[in-house]
Amino acid sequence: MNTLITDLDVLTLDDAGTLHARTTLCLEGKVIRAIGEVPPGFVPDETIDGAGHLAVPGFYNAHCHSPMTFERGWAEDLPLDRWFNERIWVAESALTPDDVEWGAALAACEMIRSGCVGFNDHYFYMDRVAGVVERSGMKAALTWCQFGIGADKEVGTGLAGAVAFAEAWQGKADGRLRTVLGPHSPYVCPPAFLREVAALAREKRLPIHIHLAESPGQVANSRRDHGLTPTAHLEACGLFEGPAVAAHALYLTDEDVAILARRGVSVAHCPITYMKLAMGVGDLRPLLRAGVNVCLGTDGPGSNSDMDMKEVIRFAPLLQKFATNDAEALAGDLPLRMATRHGARALGFPEAGVLAPGRAADLVLLRTDGPHWFPRHDLVANLVHCGKGGDVAYVFVDGRMLLRKGELLTLDEERIRWEADRRARAMVAKNLSIVREYKG
Ligand SMILES: [Zn+2]
Repeated sequence: MNTLITDLDVLTLDDAGTLHARTTLCLEGKVIRAIGEVPPGFVPDETIDGAGHLAVPGFYNAHCHSPMTFERGWAEDLPLDRWFNERIWVAESALTPDDVEWGAALAACEMIRSGCVGFNDHYFYMDRVAGVVERSGMKAALTWCQFGIGADKEVGTGLAGAVAFAEAWQGKADGRLRTVLGPHSPYVCPPAFLREVAALAREKRLPIHIHLAESPGQVANSRRDHGLTPTAHLEACGLFEGPAVAAHALYLTDEDVAILARRGVSVAHCPITYMKLAMGVGDLRPLLRAGVNVCLGTDGPGSNSDMDMKEVIRFAPLLQKFATNDAEALAGDLPLRMATRHGARALGFPEAGVLAPGRAADLVLLRTDGPHWFPRHDLVANLVHCGKGGDVAYVFVDGRMLLRKGELLTLDEERIRWEADRRARAMVAKNLSIVREYKG
């Protein structure tokens, strides 16, 4: 499939931050063939009038739990520990594989609509999420979350099943799927289990996706129990010997930052969750100075409420500037790079995240004719701070169109909305009786 897009602006996010005005984009098969001149012999199957649109690399959501759309609005106005213990983990005990599938499908609709092309998902019944990835046309890195509390107590499957899932789906969906191992966190998983996961990751060559250092209490408990910070503890357990994504990493010592940099661990920063659950902020500047690959994520809709990466791109610099009293924090196009190139690299898609010939045709066209896009002193600033997820008009993944003029092409959104709503209500009804039991 070859696509020619004419007369559009293109923000490449290449090393120089090149912005092409009123240019032409040629997509050939899965890659970008050219920006500017149409190459001789290039015959498009479809031509799109790109006037009034800006092309940017598609967004990569570096940390989420997509099926938690079911818990949107179900655990409001609670601190992290009560949010987990009284609502989320109780709700998840009633979860079915069908719930996961429809919840992930709802998230996929929302992600595509707001310009997200790939997501790093950490949840249960992940074969169902893999099916959604296959059908939706998105890219994803998936892992079946493990608590390390005994195979019979895990949700859906134990570690052996999580490894079997990873081996079965690696590279599937026409190369759009990556699989990893996902121990929940150093505060839930026992050290022996973390070491077992690390050994399996080495043996099977699987990356790691884990939660890390979300609260001062977690750091204090880790020092008490292991004599190490959570970051140093994970390193000691061997979890950072291959590629890894650490979600959050908010409470870090200088040595923790050095460990993450030395080990090449990517950090997924989810600012809306931190604000909503009052978790604190974390200072990204030391991580960025140390060369850590910092990416952006929504986290699950139970805490972030939506899956809109464009909102995260705006909130990340706002929150850093606010929290650090440093107006230069996360300046210029850095939030966009964190949401594209950095995220793509963290998820195992290094060919994506930049618009250039030969790179993956993972891109988004935003309509830039709304009043919030004018005047155009600085198109990058307009994109970071003014552009809305709802401005996304076209989405391409590996050159395939998933959204055309705001219409989803791969997913039956009406059916998904109906099924997800119906099933989420049923889950909550089950949960209400569980909550009553739980509270005794
Ligand atoms: Zn999370």
